[in-house]
Amino acid sequence: MQPTSRRIRPRRRTAALASVTLLTLAVTTSAGSGQPTTGSASAAGPVAPVPSSALGPCMISGSAGVQMSEGIPTPAGYARSTGTVRALNLMVDFSDAPGEGDALDRFGEFFPQTTDWFRTSSYGRLDYRPQTPAADWLRMPKPFRGYGIERGALFDPGYRELVQDIVTTADPKVDFRDYDLLNVLITPNAGPSALDTVLSVTFAGNTEAPIADGVPVANASFVYSRQDDGSGSYAETGYRVLPHENGHVFGLPDLYTQDGGGAVGHWDIMSEDWGADNDLLGWHKWKLGWLDDSQVGCAAGSGTTEHVLTPLAEPGTGGKLVFVPLDGRTGYAVEVRTPAGNDESVCKTGVLIYKVDADVDTGHGPISVVDSTKDSGGCTRSPNVHAELSDAPFTPGQYFKDLKTGIRITVAGTDPTGNHRVYVTRGTRG
Ligand SMILES: [Zn+2]
Repeated sequence: MQPTSRRIRPRRRTAALASVTLLTLAVTTSAGSGQPTTGSASAAGPVAPVPSSALGPCMISGSAGVQMSEGIPTPAGYARSTGTVRALNLMVDFSDAPGEGDALDRFGEFFPQTTDWFRTSSYGRLDYRPQTPAADWLRMPKPFRGYGIERGALFDPGYRELVQDIVTTADPKVDFRDYDLLNVLITPNAGPSALDTVLSVTFAGNTEAPIADGVPVANASFVYSRQDDGSGSYAETGYRVLPHENGHVFGLPDLYTQDGGGAVGHWDIMSEDWGADNDLLGWHKWKLGWLDDSQVGCAAGSGTTEHVLTPLAEPGTGGKLVFVPLDGRTGYAVEVRTPAGNDESVCKTGVLIYKVDADVDTGHGPISVVDSTKDSGGCTRSPNVHAELSDAPFTPGQYFKDLKTGIRITVAGTDPTGNHRVYVTRGTRG
């Protein structure tokens, strides 16, 4: 798009629990407990508050085979996404990639921005506390190349070995029971440049992970290299890989696909985490427990319902999300996006409409945004933003109609404070 700036389509991989478990069982015939567990079968409590029954028809869910689903509620096993969440940060280096400079400078590439990003996005409901009980580089016993870390590497054997070595090395200074999640900030000179390939990865809900101080290192994000696209914005935007990876720790799937960010564009950090800031979709905020039930409208009944939506990026108690379920697995979500909060790159204010399919797995396009202006080329000038969808929102007087179901979503108007009035019309549910 912009020849002077390299357009990057990272293809990061999320290792969901199911594949990790299967692989573990294939390698070791007896799991520690003798009873293999899955993410949804963990004994831990729910990740986020469970919505009320009035919203029941809108709590879509995927079938059992989906590793990491958009379904609500998020299964147990992931890190809590509300309240005080303690993040253990360990800076790791290797004999063939020695850490350059102060390890806390590496930490400083991600904080306090990541904390601020979560506070803003969650309206203060996620109190993210990054901690560095080991403030120096943790030197691993093997050289980097000895772990076989490459793009797409599975947890076994390389990451299991790396995590075990991290635990052993950090243990004198760290009580792993004190933390909800682990960020492994790898020295940026280990492995390839992020411009060539993205190694950053998260293993989430991984109860088969090595044990540290009696608890499995179940939710761990690994960040490599630097997401510096040469546009000069690294200092402001380079941290954004971490909230993306932590999104997985909280149970969010990848929204980009093999084809890049064409399904959701820049409307969610799980779709695009390079360059200009962007927030999460309202659906994800609900999934993470950052919206009250009263802020979510469930348009499940027949006839026409009226909804007033306040801008998603603004704090407050107003309505933020309307969901129109199609069946138990899919539906349309409706929200108002404006250039505010974490949404600095929004270039067209309006009502964003997107389809959510809880039966589609991470990285395969579980969400797709409806473009009100197909083939317009978009309105953004920001590098590394999927341009076409940047002007996707609907504006007053416009409507979207799903030809298959007859469902119609109309933007009726706005008031001076930026609230949008939306009508949802649907026939008898079939
Ligand atoms: Zn990801």
